[in-house]
Amino acid sequence: MVSPPVWRASTHLYEDCEDLARGRPNEDGHFYYGRRGGPTQWALADALTALEPGADGTELFPSGVAAIACTLMALLRPGDELLVTDNAYEPTRSIALSMLKQFGITAKPFDPLAPESLADLIGENTKAVMLESPGSLTMEVCDIPALAAIARKHGMLSIIDNTWASPLGFPALQHGCDVSVMSLTKHVGGHSDVMMGSASAAKPVINRIRRQAQFMGQVVSPDDAALAMRGLRTMQVRLRQSTGTAVQIAEWLSNHPAVAAVLCPMLPGAPGHDLWRRDFSGGCGLFSFVMANHVDAAARARFIDALDLFGVGFSWGGFESLAIPFDPAPVHTLRPWPPGIDTGSGLGVRLSIGLEDASDLIGDLAQGLDAMGIS
Ligand SMILES: *Cc1c(COP(=O)(O)O)cnc(C)c1O
Repeated sequence: MVSPPVWRASTHLYEDCEDLARGRPNEDGHFYYGRRGGPTQWALADALTALEPGADGTELFPSGVAAIACTLMALLRPGDELLVTDNAYEPTRSIALSMLKQFGITAKPFDPLAPESLADLIGENTKAVMLESPGSLTMEVCDIPALAAIARKHGMLSIIDNTWASPLGFPALQHGCDVSVMSLTKHVGGHSDVMMGSASAAKPVINRIRRQAQFMGQVVSPDDAALAMRGLRTMQVRLRQSTGTAVQIAEWLSNHPAVAAVLCPMLPGAPGHDLWRRDFSGGCGLFSFVMANHVDAAARARFIDALDLFGVGFSWGGFESLAIPFDPAPVHTLRPWPPGIDTGSGLGVRLSIGLEDASDLIGDLAQGLDAMGIS
């Protein structure tokens, strides 16, 4: 069989009482009870471990947010401090700065573009750093090898949200990180019909995450695991396709008078391009741009609402293109925009480029920008 069967089971029957008393090793591949998964989930976890060089195992979670929350809870203890990148995905920031407080864990944001500021913030209780590159919304590419090396030198663990590039574009453990977390909802699922998350790491860190995940009863359904597995088969070609289209669109937008700056690390000359070229071997269809000075929020809304091929909605990494407006100030407090760019009106738009034809998408963006009724 090419694909693993969808193996639905909560209960596994033992031979007899003696067999039951013998128990089972707490590892993938051993039937115990449905909460420890079955062959469908194990096949997906194995594939994700193989995808991330340096990982010894992968834990699956019902969402990317669950993977982030559970990983941080696994690796931090009361009294510990976490440093979180200022360009983190908003729920990650809230988990770090709010949710973890109930467990006596404190967190501080740091500027991802100033690695020396990370070293300055490290105190004796600082135990981990939460990284993300490119950053959510504003797409700053940061020097992950340098940041991870600083963390390691201070005996801290570094965890990266590797959803944007996936290990295909950024093998995070090889670049010095200890844990690579992904929202599988995005590129791996790829078809906007499944939610899931993962954390991959070497031993013994992965064992700590596994133990925490089991304490918290984290489990994914075999049906969802099969969907994620099916998505994974085509992830590389989908990423290649949407990256190529995204670069064409980013270039086109960078020449449009209604656009102040394009935040697309794959575009030569764009912020973060040099670091992206140094460290990444691939990209994806997600990038942002900033509207020019003369565009106001109502005009931005007219633009987005006029789009036919782009839906308005959260998430990204699907086959279909999406657009959302954003304002980074409430979620990136140390430095809302990457330095050195024209922040224009300060009104951001994030695009997730799907698998549609590039010229159709550019045509749609052109008519949408015209619909603002300003030039
Ligand atoms: C969407 C997203 C997540 C959360 O994933 P869910 O599966 O939606 O919980 C985490 N990190 C990044 C960067 C994301 O864009």
